[in-house]
Amino acid sequence: MSLYYETIHSLHEKLREGTVTSTMITQSVLDRIREVDEKVHCYLTLTEEAALEAAGQSDERFRKGDVSGPLDGIPLGIKDIFLTEGVRTTAGSRILENFVPPFDGTPVSRLKKAGAVITGKLNMDEFAMGSSNENSGYFPTFNPWDRALVPGGSSGGSAAAVAAGEAIATLGTDTGGSIRQPASHCGVVGLKPTYGRVSRYGVIAFASSLDQVGPLTRDVRDCAIVLKAIAGHDPADSTSARVPVPDYPSLLTGDISGMKIGLPEEYFPEGLDPEVEAPVRKAAEALAKRGASLVSVSLPSTRYAVATYYIIAPAEASSNLARYDGVKYGVRLSDPGGLLEMYRQTRSKGFGPEVKRRIMLGTFALSAGYYDAYYGKAQRVRTLIRREFEEVFSRVDLLLSPSSPTPAFPLGDRLEDPLRMYMCDMFTIPANIAGVAAVSLPCGLTPGNLPVGVQLIGPAFREEILLNAAYAYEGERGEFPKCSL
Ligand code: GLN
Repeated sequence: MSLYYETIHSLHEKLREGTVTSTMITQSVLDRIREVDEKVHCYLTLTEEAALEAAGQSDERFRKGDVSGPLDGIPLGIKDIFLTEGVRTTAGSRILENFVPPFDGTPVSRLKKAGAVITGKLNMDEFAMGSSNENSGYFPTFNPWDRALVPGGSSGGSAAAVAAGEAIATLGTDTGGSIRQPASHCGVVGLKPTYGRVSRYGVIAFASSLDQVGPLTRDVRDCAIVLKAIAGHDPADSTSARVPVPDYPSLLTGDISGMKIGLPEEYFPEGLDPEVEAPVRKAAEALAKRGASLVSVSLPSTRYAVATYYIIAPAEASSNLARYDGVKYGVRLSDPGGLLEMYRQTRSKGFGPEVKRRIMLGTFALSAGYYDAYYGKAQRVRTLIRREFEEVFSRVDLLLSPSSPTPAFPLGDRLEDPLRMYMCDMFTIPANIAGVAAVSLPCGLTPGNLPVGVQLIGPAFREEILLNAAYAYEGERGEFPKCSL
C-alpha cells in the first residue's frame, strides 16, 4: 500500500524498523496532496516547507534512538480552527483571511511535542457552523467518494483529507456533530471526546459549553493514539478536566464479553433511510457476536435536542463572535463613517450568511424579555437530556445508533433550507448537550457505494470503553474499503 494510505501505527512500526523515514512518508503525503487536492479541495493552507523540516528533525531522532512516541514523524493535518504559530488561521471565514496567530493552540502544541509533522490547515464551514463545508468562506470541499456530494461538516476538510490520503490523520472539532458526521460521510473514524477531555486553549470558539476537540483517523488504534497525545488537563483552559488520562492504545483488548449495549428507539425512528439502518443494525449484530448483549432503551427527550442546540449554540456564538469587529483580529474594512460604521462594514462583509443568521438568532434568544423563554428554557431541557444519559448509563455501558440519518448528499441540496441542514445532526447533537463521549465508525456502503457510519456513545470520561468496543467492532468488520480517487 502507498505510504500515504497507511495508519499511524503501521508507519510507526516501519519507522522503528528503519524501512522508511519520516521524510519519505511526508513526501508521499505531499505528493498525494499535489495529485488529488485539486479534485477534493481539502487544504486552505499547505505548510510544505515546515513539514519537510519537521520530518528531517524526526528522522534525526530516529537515528539517535530518541523517539518521542507513536506520532513521531507522522504527517497530520489540522482543521483551520486551531491556532498555529506563524501559519494563517481563518476558521473558514473571510473575516480572518489575514490572521496569523502568534502561538499554537494546546492540541497542536501537544501534537508537535509528540513529534508529529503538520502538513497544513484544512477547510471547514465558517466558524464551524454547518454540516456540508458549503459554508466555508473560501470554497467547498468535495466528498472523495463522489465529488458531486458534500463531505459533511464542519470538519469536512479534515474527514475528506483522511479519506483521500492527504494526511495520515487529522484534528477536528465537534460542537453538534462536526467530527462524527463528516467522518461518517467520508468512511473514516471520528471521535468526539467528553467535554473537558481535551484543552480548547487556542481553538477558535463557536459555542463554548459544547465545543470539543477530537481526532479523525483510519482506524480505532490511530484514534486512541491521537487522543492519548492531546487529552488531559491544561492550566490554560479552565474547562479542561483534572481527570487522569488512561493509556488508550494499550487498553484496546477487543474483549467486550458481557458488555451491555443499548439501542435507543428514538435513534431508529420510523422512516429512517433503510440504506443507513441496515448496516447500522448489522454493526450491532457484529458486537453481539463478540459477546455484547443488545437491549432496547428509550431517551424520550431526544426529540428536543436539535431545538435546544439551536438556542444554546447560536446564543454562545453571538457572544463569542462579538470580538471580530475589525479592531483586534483579521480584516478591517474602511471606516468613512467612524467607528460604528467600521464595525458594521467589517462584520457585514467579513461574515457569511449562516454566521449572520446564527448571530441574529443568538442575540435574539439572549435579549431582554426573551432570555428566560429561550435560553433559560433550553438550559432546563439540557438538564433533562443530560439526566436521561446518566440514567441510561446506569443500565447499559454504551449506546449504539446511526451517526447521521442519511449518507452524504449532493452539493447545493440543503443550502437553501437551513432546517433540513440542521437535521443532519439529530443523532450527534445529544452527546454534545450531555457532554458525553461518542465515536463514529464506518460500518458499510450503500448500494451507491457511499460510506455509512455507526455511532457509539459512552459515559463521560470513559473513552477507553468506547474505543475498546469500537476496536472489537472493527475486528469483526474487517478492513474498510478506500475511496477510488
Ligand atoms: N452542524 C452543526 C452546526 O451547524 C454542528 C457544527 C459543529 O459541530 N461544529 O452547528
